[in-house]
Amino acid sequence: MRKFLIAGNWKMNGTRDSAVQLADEIVRGLEPSEQLEILVCPPFIFLLEVARRLKNSRLLLGAQDICADDNGAYTGEVSGSMLREAECRYVIVGHSERRSLYAENDSLVARKFIAAQNAGLIPILCVGETLEQRQNGQTHAVVLGQLNAVLEVAGLQAFGHAVMAYEPVWAIGTGKNATPEQAQEVHASIRASLGSRDAKIASRIRLLYGGSVKAANAAELLKMPDIDGGLVGGASLEAKEFLAICKAAG
Ligand code: PEP
Repeated sequence: MRKFLIAGNWKMNGTRDSAVQLADEIVRGLEPSEQLEILVCPPFIFLLEVARRLKNSRLLLGAQDICADDNGAYTGEVSGSMLREAECRYVIVGHSERRSLYAENDSLVARKFIAAQNAGLIPILCVGETLEQRQNGQTHAVVLGQLNAVLEVAGLQAFGHAVMAYEPVWAIGTGKNATPEQAQEVHASIRASLGSRDAKIASRIRLLYGGSVKAANAAELLKMPDIDGGLVGGASLEAKEFLAICKAAG
């Protein structure tokens, strides 16, 4: 049985005080559910402070990015071992904002995926097509291409310790989510692609949907058979909304 995972990506938002307050409110509002893991990904600078607030709670901590190298002369970067020291368990790799705004290509994403696992972190590999690619009928080719690029470098077994997030670029931060059917179709194709290589890995991997998830649409997205959770951006910045999404999953 796959455990649902709801991950909140706070992006570059908030202050130290608001990050602490948000973490506290989520911790206070959580209801126990064995079938659900919940994770927040604050900006790097707030990780240690938020980690302190999460002690003895069931809320997990993740990071939004990772350096592909583990130490050395990489000004401005944060390594996997540093993230582990900050109590992170997960890290997002290949978010579309990193790909489009910071020119991260498939090969860098693959190196980050491996760096995360080498440091003992679980990578959340994001894949997704742009609106233009969808309109040109390239959705599956793009998504499976992004997956294959990591598979080729990291190997299939690495996906036994990874999470994937399907995040159509046109749905991120736009208020326009993929329909449950659109998301399910892509999730099923990701699972089938992994399944053609290893049925066990395909059935166990958690495939999250991300892109304008909110309390009002979470239940219908999460009830689809191949959607195992959500990667939530904007709606994770309000405790009440994020908790309602968690409730829809639990
Ligand atoms: C995201 O940041 O990964 C995301 C899906 O954002 P939003 O939920 O705001 O669309």
